[in-house]
Amino acid sequence: MNSVPVLMYHHILEKDSFIASSIENFEKQMKFLAENNYKTLTSKEFLEFKQGKKKFKKAIFITFDDGWRDNYYFAYPVLKKYNLKATIFLVTEWIEKASEKKSEFKPLKHNEAKKEVQINPSSVILNWNEIEKMSDVLDFHSHTHSHRDFYFGKEYSWEEEFEKSKEILKNRLGVDSKHLCWPRGKYDNNLIMLVKKNFKIFYTTKRGINLADNNLDEIKRIAIKKDDRWLKKQIKIFSNPIFGYLYSKVKPE
Ligand SMILES: [Zn+2]
Repeated sequence: MNSVPVLMYHHILEKDSFIASSIENFEKQMKFLAENNYKTLTSKEFLEFKQGKKKFKKAIFITFDDGWRDNYYFAYPVLKKYNLKATIFLVTEWIEKASEKKSEFKPLKHNEAKKEVQINPSSVILNWNEIEKMSDVLDFHSHTHSHRDFYFGKEYSWEEEFEKSKEILKNRLGVDSKHLCWPRGKYDNNLIMLVKKNFKIFYTTKRGINLADNNLDEIKRIAIKKDDRWLKKQIKIFSNPIFGYLYSKVKPE
C-alpha cells in the first residue's frame, strides 16, 4: 500500500520567509514534480484515493492555505506552466471582503499580510474573479468562514464557520465542498463530530502518511520549505508507509 504525500504551502513570495516559499524554490519544486512524472491530484482524486476507490502511481496532493493573493500572481502561472493541479483552502469571509472593492496587489510577508487583511483585504487576499480564473488548475475548499480571527468585527460560532463557508463556496463556485482545513491545525473530537454535518475530509498541520484506509478525519501534510532537493527527500520519506510513519513519530510537526 502506498502513501500520498500532501504538501502544505501558504505564501509564494519573492524571497523565502516565514511560511513563504520563494518563487524560485517553488518553480524548482514544481519542475521537479513535472519532470519526474508525479501525478498531482485534484481534490476529488485525493478523496477517492483515501476512500480506496482509485489508485494512483507517484501521486502528490498540493495544497495552499488561507487564499493569499500572491498565489494568483506567483503560484498559478507556475502550476499552469508545468500542467500541475492543486487546491486552495479559502477563508470565505476574507474572500468576500477582498471582492468588495479592488486595490493594487501587495506581496507582503505573512505578519504584515495578516495586518493588511484587516485594513485593505483586497491587496493581499484573492478575490472571486481571480479564483474563477484559476479554476482550470486549482480546486477551492474551506478553511472556515473567519479563520477564527474575527477580523471584521463579527464573531461566529463553529456551526456558522462551517455552514457559512460551505454555503458561500456553493453560491460563488457551484461546488458542494467536502474538504475542510482546520485553521492553525487546531481541532478536537467534538469539532470533528460537529463539522461532519457539512464536510467529509479534514486537513491538519500534522506530518505523516496518507493511506487508502478510508480514514478521512486527519489528513497529514508536510509544511513545505527550502528547494527541490529538500522536497525530493520529503516525498521519498512520506511516500513510504513505514519510513513516513516512523519519521512522523520522531518529528510530528
Ligand atoms: Zn490558515
